[in-house]
Amino acid sequence: MGKQFYQPLGGHEMPRFGGIATMLRLPHLPSPKGLDAAFVGVPLDIGTSLRPGTRFGPREIRTESVMIRPYNMATGAAPFDSLSVADIGDVPINTFNLLDAVRIIEESYDRILEHGVTPLTLGGDHTITLPILRAMRRKHGKVGLVHIDAHADVNDHMFGEKIAHGTTFRRAVEEGLLDCQRVVQIGLRAQGYTADDFDWSRRQGFRVVQAEECWHRSLEPLMAEVRLKVQGGPVYLSFDIDGIDPAWAPGTGTPEIGGLTTIQAIEIIRGCQGLDLVGCDLVEVSPPYDKTGNTSLLGANLLYEMLCVLPGVKRR
Ligand code: MN
Ligand code: MN
Repeated sequence: MGKQFYQPLGGHEMPRFGGIATMLRLPHLPSPKGLDAAFVGVPLDIGTSLRPGTRFGPREIRTESVMIRPYNMATGAAPFDSLSVADIGDVPINTFNLLDAVRIIEESYDRILEHGVTPLTLGGDHTITLPILRAMRRKHGKVGLVHIDAHADVNDHMFGEKIAHGTTFRRAVEEGLLDCQRVVQIGLRAQGYTADDFDWSRRQGFRVVQAEECWHRSLEPLMAEVRLKVQGGPVYLSFDIDGIDPAWAPGTGTPEIGGLTTIQAIEIIRGCQGLDLVGCDLVEVSPPYDKTGNTSLLGANLLYEMLCVLPGVKRR
């Protein structure tokens, strides 16, 4: 049986505003079997600490993905000629129980990874990355991490709770999910609860790139350094949309000014080409705070860019 190279539904076959919204207008398949990569939604927002709404993220990202065409005109990437990709729908989380939702996510990703599929996840708040990383650890061993965010997400607890969107990477370290010498956090900024809030990350061996280090410059040189730091094993990419400035990404739960630009976001993702990426997520898009749809549009495009840098994607 030959591999199926699914193509996005073209704008001349069905108007872009018509039909059922799937990610990039790809077919919706019930199972990841036979795919190389799959878009998966995780409509969770009960791990958030301020504004809710990321439960609507996967749907809106799909809706705003309808303009995206197959070929990457800047990099030449031809993802749909190279990989078998589809939208496998959403994880049926328990929206009344965060810990049960985390269990369901973990089991769902175990199944996806069993099929050898690379998941591209539409969040969902940042809590979802912990169960995904647990599944990654079982499949691939400890992973390196490229984490873009305004926040380090290394709180010990939030309101006494050990699992929430701001504790994800502290738990990931404690649970031995990360190869800490191969972790980079980019875009951290604003205020801390203490003056050395970001030093916990540094003490684990992470390279922390605060937003100020990115201001007014291209991130291509930084990404050369990042590749050297995280290469040498499997790498996971976790992109919190609040890493980008709220001028471009207002539709999110915990916005912070002075963030990355959309252009820098693209540079970061394109700069991951050549790494052994085993999964990616785009989290924290909150459509109720996204009056223009621009945040979801940006999220959809960044997920497309992630697809374009997966191992095995051919360039024209
Ligand atoms: Mn985050
Ligand atoms: Mn954040």
